Amino acid sequence: MSRLLFRLIVAIVFAVFARPALGQVGETTITKWQGGKTGAISITFDDGTINHFRVARPLLNERDLPGTFYIVTGALPGTQETGTFVGRSVENIIKETARDTTDAENFFERASAIRYLGYKGTYTYHMEAGGLYEQGRVQAAYDVIDEGYRKVRQGGHEKKDGSWDYPLSEYMYEVMAVEPGVELVTWEDLRSYDTDVHEFGSHTITHPYLAVMDAKNIRYELRESREAIRRHLGTAHTFSAEAPFGTKNERVMEIGHELYPALRNRMPRPYLTEIERGSDVQPGTTSTAYTLWQRGPLSDTPMTEMKRWVDVTQENDNIWLVLVFHGIEGIGWEPKSKAEMKEYLDYIDARTKDLWVATFADGTKYMQERMDARVSTERREDALTVTLTHSLGPRYDLPLTLRTYVPGAWSNIRVSQGDTQHEATLQTDEKGTYVQYQAQPNEGRIHIRNQ
Ligand SMILES: [Zn+2]
Repeated sequence: MSRLLFRLIVAIVFAVFARPALGQVGETTITKWQGGKTGAISITFDDGTINHFRVARPLLNERDLPGTFYIVTGALPGTQETGTFVGRSVENIIKETARDTTDAENFFERASAIRYLGYKGTYTYHMEAGGLYEQGRVQAAYDVIDEGYRKVRQGGHEKKDGSWDYPLSEYMYEVMAVEPGVELVTWEDLRSYDTDVHEFGSHTITHPYLAVMDAKNIRYELRESREAIRRHLGTAHTFSAEAPFGTKNERVMEIGHELYPALRNRMPRPYLTEIERGSDVQPGTTSTAYTLWQRGPLSDTPMTEMKRWVDVTQENDNIWLVLVFHGIEGIGWEPKSKAEMKEYLDYIDARTKDLWVATFADGTKYMQERMDARVSTERREDALTVTLTHSLGPRYDLPLTLRTYVPGAWSNIRVSQGDTQHEATLQTDEKGTYVQYQAQPNEGRIHIRNQ
């Protein structure tokens, strides 16, 4: 063999085997989902009905899965912040309705006030007008409000002490399908329910149609429910919220996003495709870094379909499946049975090697922190030093999962950040050997050393 040919072979062998590995040392990436998983699932429950906590929560706990529960704070006994109308005297508003019909100018104020006129049963006009307005039937919504005020003026509704116009149990039945007399969850109960594992977010004070309310009253419902949660459960539970009836109304979303870092209703981000609960768009066809795929199992949604959502999430790498449950075991809207919940949670639990199950708040935090993060690595002789920062502020405090390529000869690796020793696993892929670990952004340098 000539010397030249020998050199050529050595050069090729070096290029193929040695250089790629050496070239990667120090390269650090943030995995798409926590723990290097290929997809995420958030299991959320709306309306705060009792079986979320008596039936679903224990099933989640048995499998170590976190849930997100959106609660209607005004329905909890003893809540200080109750439903009210924020605005002018309702007597004046009633008088004005005798003079002019409802139009774009006065609709939101009238539809906000109509539940609080001091007469029984007027909340039904708010509900009906809200449903019509959200369907785009604006004039029909105005007409319903006119009809309601006319009836009140003509004495068609019985007067009531206090402004809250119906017994809470009757209202719960109307808006959340909770039979009168069914037990309600209490703040004391919630405080005892693993508040460090599960998320308990706001679903407003009284579950109204925010889209037909004026700004002051939208803000009151969203802000005061947040304050009740903060006082009873702590600031960690004021990160995400869900405005009722899955509204996407822009006025509501604008005020909601001023008050909460995240709304399950909508999350406009350039790197995120949102697929609504009612949409037939299939994930996996989208080109953004992430896809939020919201699915709401109803009573007759087949288990095969629900399992398929999990399979699709597992087969892709960019899907965040956000499940929206309402009733459980006979209590609440469109309930799923305990047996179905058990089977479904078992199915999800068996796939947690690939799927990260996270609260809605944690799913949001991970995605946003990763997209905003800056990561860099310095190499010193015996160590790699990684810097991880983001500019989102202190509420974005979820650790991110990092992979840093290390020299192939390193076998006993220690990863530390400040005084904290991070658990680290050594793995190999086509680019070389890397160490995978969790790191806290904005909390100082991470040191990777071979022992
Ligand atoms: Zn709801």
